[in-house]
Amino acid sequence: MSLPNCPKCQSAYTYEDGALLVCPECAHEWQEDEAETQSLSLIKDANGNVLNDGDSVTVIKDLKIKGSSSVVKVGTKVKSIRLVPDASDGHDIDCKIDGIGQIKLKSEFVKKA
Ligand SMILES: [Zn+2]
Repeated sequence: MSLPNCPKCQSAYTYEDGALLVCPECAHEWQEDEAETQSLSLIKDANGNVLNDGDSVTVIKDLKIKGSSSVVKVGTKVKSIRLVPDASDGHDIDCKIDGIGQIKLKSEFVKKA
């Protein structure tokens, strides 16, 4: 049975230490269980609530939109979000905002409505 690679640095030299898995290269320690693996891919709002496709959220700070003069104001309600679990730039919510259009948001700047 082989151990999973380190989720932080992808090192293959992980080893077991009791209930924990340990990475000798970056010193990351984690628990190998289903729940942990799953929570890694969950997208959470600013309060730590898990977000789902189709949820409505509220923006919690003014967000300047890159490449335009528009600002998404704090308190803006966003309906029917779509999650982007593998967003490499951290913008893990795809949504449409009235008056602005299709944009991407970071889950850390919203809370579940
Ligand atoms: Zn590592």
